[in-house]
Amino acid sequence: MIGLIAVTTAGRAAAARLAQAWPAETRTYDGPVRLALHRAWTECDGLVCFLAVGATTRLVAPLLDSKWVDPAVVCVDEPGRYAVALVGGHAAGANALCAKVADVLGAQPIVTTATDATGLPGLDTLDWPAEGAISRVSRAMLDGEPVSFTTDATWPVPPLPVTVGGTGQYRIVVTDRIVPPDDNTVVLRPPSLVAGVGASKGVTADEILGLLDEALTVGGLSRESVTALATVEAKAGEEGIVAAARQGGWPLRSYPADRLAAVPVPNPGEAALAAVGTPSVAEAAALICADLLVVPKRKSAMATVALARIRPRGRLALVGLGPGDRDLVTPRAIAELRRASVVVGLDRYLDQIRDVLRPGTRVIGSGLGDEEQRASTAVAEARMGHAVALVGSGDAGVYAMASPALAMAGTDIDVVGVPGVTAGLAAAALLGAPLGHDHVIISLSDLHTPWEIIERRIRAAAEGDFVVAFYNPRSKERDWQLGAALEILAAHRDPGTPAGVVRDAFRPGQQVLVTTLAELDPATVDMRSVVIVGSASTQTIAGRMVTSRGYRWQRP
Ligand code: SAH
Repeated sequence: MIGLIAVTTAGRAAAARLAQAWPAETRTYDGPVRLALHRAWTECDGLVCFLAVGATTRLVAPLLDSKWVDPAVVCVDEPGRYAVALVGGHAAGANALCAKVADVLGAQPIVTTATDATGLPGLDTLDWPAEGAISRVSRAMLDGEPVSFTTDATWPVPPLPVTVGGTGQYRIVVTDRIVPPDDNTVVLRPPSLVAGVGASKGVTADEILGLLDEALTVGGLSRESVTALATVEAKAGEEGIVAAARQGGWPLRSYPADRLAAVPVPNPGEAALAAVGTPSVAEAAALICADLLVVPKRKSAMATVALARIRPRGRLALVGLGPGDRDLVTPRAIAELRRASVVVGLDRYLDQIRDVLRPGTRVIGSGLGDEEQRASTAVAEARMGHAVALVGSGDAGVYAMASPALAMAGTDIDVVGVPGVTAGLAAAALLGAPLGHDHVIISLSDLHTPWEIIERRIRAAAEGDFVVAFYNPRSKERDWQLGAALEILAAHRDPGTPAGVVRDAFRPGQQVLVTTLAELDPATVDMRSVVIVGSASTQTIAGRMVTSRGYRWQRP
């Protein structure tokens, strides 16, 4: 519950906005402010005080105990310009609450803790459990002290500050193994283990969890690295198994008996075969989800458990950067760029986003052309296990790098697509609403597609009365294609059909022209432009291209 404490009219109005935004999560505390705050302090896990930082500090000071028990406190100033995470940044979630409050109120979030989440810059995005000297090692990373980094396998981790690597007094160790703790080491637990579980009817969760802990001890492995439980379909509803998964916070995966029966295992058994139709449940289920058996089947009276390890997979993010302006780059694209330890793309796109990359990111740029090289570099880096972002302008899948990259990528890497605002949408938004009804995008570049095919598609679009957006419309070497394309359209469309040219959409020097099919001069168009030609239902209204949606209420 989030307690809202306000004393002024403006404060109460802002508090009401939060209450409206999160009706089920907020409670408003009225009355004398000291009493209100005291009540909220005991009843809520977060407080938003519409008071000055000084006033709030004085009010909460006598109540402070420790960061593990105190609620999060966020202050919002009288005009609602700033939301300040005052206490409980990490443990109580004040930093996160501050960001949410700022979002709703349109305020600027102020967070002053040095690091976030797990406390390790960069690695915080992973949400992996961390143990050991978190604050010391975080401090060392922030201070630029040498921190060594060792890992059992190449996980697609975010970039680390350049000082991480080599040797050092401080250490980050990525492992699912139990390592002796010391004062200068952080152990990060990757999601690398799957526990296969079999059980007889009526087994208890305690028995399963006890056996699982025993298997972990035998293997010298950490429970924090267990990422899922796996079993046979027939046991997916077995109460003890379901409860064990719930208690551990793990998803429970289940597979049909015949699928399990097909997995070669070291310790098949007659009993399982008779009971559920597969000679192995625990080992086979673990091996379906993971790659290598690390603790073979162990038995208790009513349960079996086996542990298998996942071979990490690299991650390839295909990230569209939008047409140009920073605020048209999606927050998700920014998050992926900061998540990647390797970023691949054209130099000029990389220049647009260098400032958001984390220190230590490996940037692999290249000039125009070289598409195959770029795609294969990105895929090869992901295959090595790294977190890679392959960037493109607009959307990375529209006349861009996503398709050549995926043509080379196999099932051995994870692929994450991040859509971007493609040039056609950017241009349309500037022209009005030309894409209000059916439309096509056609590239006029005949470098990779023979002109006859392009021509056939334009003709089909013309006959079908589609609105057409032309990409790659005209360059120094390809100067006749746009004229030819417009002629094909003109054979099927009124000369007065609205047409628009947008050059450098959402970039410095942007130009927007609304004209007609007959008057559009190809000489004014270049490779940095998109041309949109309307259909029979496109009109120019108040200087804007509008393609009617054909709503009944709009018909004469
Ligand atoms: N992946 C890109 C398209 C690459 S093809 C996207 O989704 O937008 C390159 C063509 O896109 C250019 O020749 C031009 O026609 C168009 N284009 C890209 N960005 C543009 C912009 N900001 N303004 C106008 N046209 C643009």
